[in-house]
Amino acid sequence: MRLFDEGLHSGVNLALKVDEVIYREQTELQDLMIFENKQFGRVMSLDGAIQTTEKDEFIYHEMFVHVPMLAHGRVRRALIIGGGDGGAARQFMKYQNIEVTMVDIDRSVVELSKKYMPSVSGGAFDDPRLELVIADGCKYVKDAKQRWDVIIIDSTDPHGPGEVLYSEEFYRDCKSCLTAGGIIITQNGVPYVQESELRTSYDRLGGLFRDVSFYLAAIPSYVGGVMAFGWATDDTDHRKVSLSKLAERYMESGITTDYYTPEVHLAAFALPLHIQKMLTRQ
Ligand code: SAM
Repeated sequence: MRLFDEGLHSGVNLALKVDEVIYREQTELQDLMIFENKQFGRVMSLDGAIQTTEKDEFIYHEMFVHVPMLAHGRVRRALIIGGGDGGAARQFMKYQNIEVTMVDIDRSVVELSKKYMPSVSGGAFDDPRLELVIADGCKYVKDAKQRWDVIIIDSTDPHGPGEVLYSEEFYRDCKSCLTAGGIIITQNGVPYVQESELRTSYDRLGGLFRDVSFYLAAIPSYVGGVMAFGWATDDTDHRKVSLSKLAERYMESGITTDYYTPEVHLAAFALPLHIQKMLTRQ
């Protein structure tokens, strides 16, 4: 398995033992491998970077989806860019009144996740409330006529096909696809080892939205500490939502979670000082 090249987590690698290779393919776009690891269960990697593990995916996907869903409170339509493993889609499907469009560039990721890691998508791909589009997310939002209340950018890191999903132009196109008060969430890597990505996203999103910040979660299979989700919206009230309001929405939604709680939601926005210091517009 190729480990991270210079540029992503330069000089740092997390090694997971490949107990058994379940599937490996060079798709048209990326090197896709699914393997078994005693600690994390089935693991999917793309171009040598861990994307999803059966054991800890719930942390990442719950925080990706329920934070914007419950902060907003009235989401009817959501867009996922990337997210081919189906984990984010599964979290959205927990809500009653939701329609989701998911745009991933690589059909193999979807098919192989369904086949070899079925618990991750949990049947979301067969749910009529989910529309799956196989396309480049960047091109898709440029041409889109529809509007969404929440857009989550569940992409690979900014290398290979995922690189365009970190561009200012793409963020601008996403913004024009949002309903009033809509929220964009990004996969923003691990600040400790990907500081420049955090700074770049802050700068690019900060030029477009009134409220831009990050929230954190520790994902055991990711390298270098807590990972950051980017948060961007023009509605400054979403981040001021009270604990009691979140608790009420959480209860009314009827969803069940294993990581997310309203308390965790609010606490995740508390940024350690060294990360706060990274957030200066360049
Ligand atoms: N948890 C993640 C991580 O660790 O980076 C992301 C998971 S998800 C599997 C990433 C998805 O982004 C993949 O399915 C990949 O095919 C998709 N992707 C990459 N570039 C894309 C693009 N330009 N448009 C749409 N999807 C893209």
